Amino acid sequence: MTTIMESLSIKTENKFRTLVSKRAYKKGEVICAIPSEDIREKPNRYTVQIAHDKHTHVGKLAALNHSCDPNVFLDTQHMEMVAAREIEKGDELFFFYPSTEWEMDAPFICLCGSANCINVVAGARFLPLSTLERHYLNSHIRDYMVELVKNTKNNLIKIK
Ligand SMILES: [Zn+2]
Repeated sequence: MTTIMESLSIKTENKFRTLVSKRAYKKGEVICAIPSEDIREKPNRYTVQIAHDKHTHVGKLAALNHSCDPNVFLDTQHMEMVAAREIEKGDELFFFYPSTEWEMDAPFICLCGSANCINVVAGARFLPLSTLERHYLNSHIRDYMVELVKNTKNNLIKIK
């Protein structure tokens, strides 16, 4: 598999980094591997969540910004970044952060301008299921969702 910098380049403008594709990709094509040499228990701005209490430090791939209408997704089971639709050479790449992050270390306001913009990007736990269902979701996020629904049911039983 190609390394990150063979297929991608980082552009910096006013200290804001973006990740740009050096070539075209078809939908479903693997773009690069997700780095996995440095796994941590806690998230930070340079990590991607891959399981409960497991956050991989992604190095240069941390320049990958969020969009509510993303053109790539991160498959944390196979540790690959995959094209979610056709990508052209020179396109900036984006993924939907809550597709890997349950609870983010540094939430922010999204200005992506898409019709389905979630506005506050803080992690999957803060989004309604109806919003999450529209996106590619990794298995650990699905597990968290099931857990949350179970806990809610138990709490409702207690109230009764
Ligand atoms: Zn948005």
